[in-house]
Amino acid sequence: MNMSKIRPADTGRTFRVVGLPGDGIGPEVYQSACRVLGVMEQLYGLTVELDEQLIGGAAVDAAGAPLPAETIEACKNADAALLGAVGGPKWDGNPAEMRPELGLLKIRAEFNLFCNLRPIVTHPALHSFSPLRPDRLENVDLMIVRELTGGSYFGKKWRDHDQAEDVCRYTREEVERVTRSAGRIAQQRDGRITLVDKANVLETSRLWRSVVGQVIAEEFPDVALENMYVDAAAMHLLTRPADFDVMLTENLFGDILSDEASMLCGSLGLLPSASLNENRFGLYEPVHGSAPDIAGQGKANPYAMLLSVAMMLRYSLDCADEAAALEKCIHACWNEGILTRDLRVDGCSTSEVTDAVCGQLAALSP
Ligand code: NAD
Repeated sequence: MNMSKIRPADTGRTFRVVGLPGDGIGPEVYQSACRVLGVMEQLYGLTVELDEQLIGGAAVDAAGAPLPAETIEACKNADAALLGAVGGPKWDGNPAEMRPELGLLKIRAEFNLFCNLRPIVTHPALHSFSPLRPDRLENVDLMIVRELTGGSYFGKKWRDHDQAEDVCRYTREEVERVTRSAGRIAQQRDGRITLVDKANVLETSRLWRSVVGQVIAEEFPDVALENMYVDAAAMHLLTRPADFDVMLTENLFGDILSDEASMLCGSLGLLPSASLNENRFGLYEPVHGSAPDIAGQGKANPYAMLLSVAMMLRYSLDCADEAAALEKCIHACWNEGILTRDLRVDGCSTSEVTDAVCGQLAALSP
């Protein structure tokens, strides 16, 4: 690293982040994020106070609960939380309240993280890893905004021997707040929102259409809104993905469409996510799980985690320039073929990728 480029810390830019390494490869990719943040602190005059806490299986083992009270308290005093991943075969037989994944559901509910963001951005150096034809992948840069705390996942549920029901319920307020989030994001991008629903069949979708239309018209006149049925959206994501800017949708549709869209990028190890509430607090995490099959072997792809750090810098820490710089460095590494073994047989280790990103940051620094 070129030490002459290092600037003194600016005390006005001190942030508190709860670090949640979790299980499996979670601690490995989390470690990568810590190293990159450490370099960014020095280069950009930031102070990121990392408060490491327990979640998932690690928390079950050490504290007897997947989301201990201390973790919740720490998050209440933080600007953001950065999570590795949770889960693994060790805890698969646990009763429901001691399952690692419950830690994740609880933190989303506890902090009202209703707005889930998944950027889907393709890069020419990675086109060959996607099952889609390279010409369809050019210029894909879309943001899926998924409502995360309502709909059929959280509605009344029951089942008897012959019948079952999952009630899909949305309130005007729930739709309004996620629409405002999508509107603000669209204003920072290309200014276009596609609302994905099933308004030809579902009452909840008709409520969404009416509320989203009203909020966008009244509060975001500079944003263009189009409506699309979910079945058509599933098809258009594969045939013309570059046409989308912001895709706004409810919980269930968003779950399915975001996994479909992830295949445009080529590997699970490349996809970041953010879950935000109304106070800008966010939980940032890679989309992938704890990958027990490769844990402890230095094979984990850290790019999804590092892109999640960039999202954290942009959406919760107000450091858009630093976020863009980190993304630029990651893209430079991709151009140089610095990829882990999920993408290349002779690929690099987690720490080699981390070294390369840190090196790019040092070379790019102001
Ligand atoms: P997974 O995402 O952990 O792994 C699926 C496949 O992708 C595996 O072959 C794995 O090796 C590979 N993979 C995933 N991330 C990778 C990375 N960064 N680098 C290289 N390869 C990577 O999904 P799974 O196997 O279905 O689940 C394993 C555990 O993770 C389960 O306990 C599950 O409940 C949990 N899980 C947690 C989260 C989360 O913490 N947000 C999300 C999904 C699954």
